[in-house]
Amino acid sequence: MSKHHIEKVTCPSCHHEGDFEVWDSINTVLNPEMKEKVLNQSIFLYTCPNCGETFRLNYPTLYHQMEDLVMIYLVPESEVEKTYEMFYGENALADYRTEKYLNRIVTSANQLIEKIKIFDAGKDGRIN
Ligand SMILES: [Zn+2]
Repeated sequence: MSKHHIEKVTCPSCHHEGDFEVWDSINTVLNPEMKEKVLNQSIFLYTCPNCGETFRLNYPTLYHQMEDLVMIYLVPESEVEKTYEMFYGENALADYRTEKYLNRIVTSANQLIEKIKIFDAGKDGRIN
């Protein structure tokens, strides 16, 4: 499932407090429109409703392209090991391993986008 919540953000430019929608996880089957927003990075952009200034907010998210069994975790460098454990450690969720999921861990939005594009390109080129 997709999970998102609202966080209060203070504009660095005018100090107005506004709402920013943070996507903790994205499921492209439930929210197909979100794939584009990841690819154009708009999920990481906040526009201040007061002064109109746009700035970037990086946060961790789980990108789940469920129809293709692709799961990509965007996490800070410090969380990589913990995330890896979750996928492959002793207490890993079983279906990540048994259902032929493609799991990737990345540490920047650019890497996330690159992975999605590489995967989609490979999928289009696949002979069935
Ligand atoms: Zn502002």
